[in-house]
Parts: sequence; structure tokens; C-alpha cells
Amino acid sequence: MGNTRIAHKGISIENIEVSAYTIPTDLPESDGTYVWDKTTIVIVEASADGKRGLGYTYADLSTAKLINEQLTRVVRGRDAMDVPGCWLAMVETIRNLGRPGISSMAISAVDAALWDLKARILDVALITLLGAVRTGAPIYGSGGFTSYSREQLQRQLGDWVADGIPRVKMKIGRHPDEDVARVSNAREAIGADAELFVDANGAYSRKQALALANIFAAELGVTWFEEPVSSDDLQGLHLIRDRGPAGMDIAAGEYGYDLGYFRRMLEAQAVDVLQADATRCAGITGFMKVGALVEARNLQLSSHCGPSLHVHPCCALTNFRHMEYFHDHVRIEHMLFDGALNPIEGELRPDRTRPGMGLEFKRADAAKYAV
Ligand SMILES: [Mg+2]
Repeated sequence: MGNTRIAHKGISIENIEVSAYTIPTDLPESDGTYVWDKTTIVIVEASADGKRGLGYTYADLSTAKLINEQLTRVVRGRDAMDVPGCWLAMVETIRNLGRPGISSMAISAVDAALWDLKARILDVALITLLGAVRTGAPIYGSGGFTSYSREQLQRQLGDWVADGIPRVKMKIGRHPDEDVARVSNAREAIGADAELFVDANGAYSRKQALALANIFAAELGVTWFEEPVSSDDLQGLHLIRDRGPAGMDIAAGEYGYDLGYFRRMLEAQAVDVLQADATRCAGITGFMKVGALVEARNLQLSSHCGPSLHVHPCCALTNFRHMEYFHDHVRIEHMLFDGALNPIEGELRPDRTRPGMGLEFKRADAAKYAV
């Protein structure tokens, strides 16, 4: 029997490089409360021991500046094996800037790059480093923007289902009078068996949301209502969870940046399924902590956006429901990263033959979008 223990050598993080890219959407996009035509991705590359780790967040350009001015100096020179120590140093250093928002997105990108780097130094897939619970993460197709025509909506959702993704989500709430008809169009396109989710991004009042929840569930088989009211209205979410239809899950959590936010949402019994985004909630380190909070409540976690960054951590969480396979980010991640996964039978399955998150940055392809 050989000694398989890995001696700890002490491997200093040498450099943290930051770049940002703005990519136009393929069509004009909107949801219940927001309109956009482009997406900025902030990419961090952390290097040590001849290896480069990749992390990213979807955030404003100012996030890149914050990483450069505040985070690189507290991480550089630390041991690449000690990701939680780097995480804590970053959290401490942004104390006076405020933990939610840009600070946590900046930490997220660096933290993900450090997890990727550590896995690459150990020459294992990130899922192996974190410890797998499952070999693949179920996904739901996510898009169905309120800016889409009926044809665009039906084609996008219908194509996902035809490709073997058995659950899809659409946006509602921009024109409340048209929502029942739009959701009906979606149901028509995906057939009776696929699961249909709706996301109002907080556009409705409580009573509006409750009335629509009943119609969506009873007449159109909707099983997931995300942010029916503002996710800051925890009592409102609780009310709809409590009084809404039994077969419909209430979900929120995408604007969570710190553990206290998720704890308060859970304490208020505001959601059936908690959402979290590792590109916002202080990285993979923060995301795994949210997973423990959810487990303590016997609930499940669903990841928000950025599928390539979530797939390994999601395969390492016990109380996990599914991942959001978000149209804009799927498109960007395939444009910028070799190794971005394609769905197999409605799941993303990490390739354990590739180190880290399995992504290689296509620098030359990204150059034209650099900001
Ligand atoms: Mg949402």
C-alpha cells in the first residue's frame, strides 16, 4: 500500500488578474421589473504553482475595479489550499464598504477562481474536491422574456422541452393583463407533461399575486412561482406560500449576498425552495454555507443563473432541487468558455476528466467584448 497522503507544501497565490466583457443580448429583453440589452461578465484568473484558476460574476464594471483595488492585495501571497482563509480575509477587508451588492459579487468572482485554482493544483475536478452527492444536476430552461413575441416565447420554451429539459421558466409581470394569455401560450408550446415555472421578479402586489397563483395552478399547471411579490416583502411571500395553491412552490433568494439575508428569508417561512447565486453570495464558499442553512430547515436549494459556475457545487449539495439554465448566461458561457456543458437528459453532468470547473477561457474570442 503506497502512502497516498498529499504533503502540504504551502503554495502561494501569485497573482489575481481581472478583466470584464460586455456582450449584447441576442434580442431585446425584459422581465416584470427590469429591461436590458447587454450583460457584463467580470472574470478573475488566479494563478499559483503554474496553474490558473477561473472565476466570474455577472456584475457591473465597478466590480472589477473593486477587486483590483481592495481584494487582490489581501489574497496575493496566501496559501492556495486555504480558500476559506482567503474568503474571510476578503470579507473582513470590505467591512466598511457594505457586505451586500458589489462587494459580495467581487468576493464571489475571486472565491470561485480560488476554488478552481485549488482543484487544478490538486489535478481533480471541483466536484471531486468538494465531494460529490450526485453525478448530474437537473436543470430548468429559463428565459421567456416579457419582451418576446408569442412566437419567440413558444419557440424557446418548446425547444428546451424538445431537447429533453422537462421544466421551463418564463417571465411575467410587465403587462399583468396579458399574463394569463402568455402563460397559456407557453403551456400550449410545451405540452401537458413539462413543468411550467413563472417568475414575476417582484412585479405584483400581494392580492394580485395570490389571485394569479390560483389561476396559474388550477388552469395552466404552473408549479413554481418565483418572486410573486418583492423578495423584500417576506410577510407577503409567506402569505402567498401559506394561502396559495398546494401544488405550487414559492421561490426567492436571488438577491441574497450574505448568510443573514438567507436566514431571515427562511425564518420568515417565506419560500418553499430557496434560491441562491454563487456569483453574488460570496462565491462557492458562501453558496455551500447557504446549502447548510437550507438543509437545517429540511428545504431545498435551487441555483440562480451562471450554470457553469454552479454545476460542481450543486452536485455537492445534499438538499438541492435544480439549477437555472438561463438563456443569456448559457449563450455567454458557450461563447467565452471551452468546456461549458450541454444538457444530457435534462441535467448538466460535470466532466470529471477535466480539472477544476472544467472551463478554459477563450481569450481571443472574448477580446472584442472587452471593456
Ligand atoms: Mg428570478
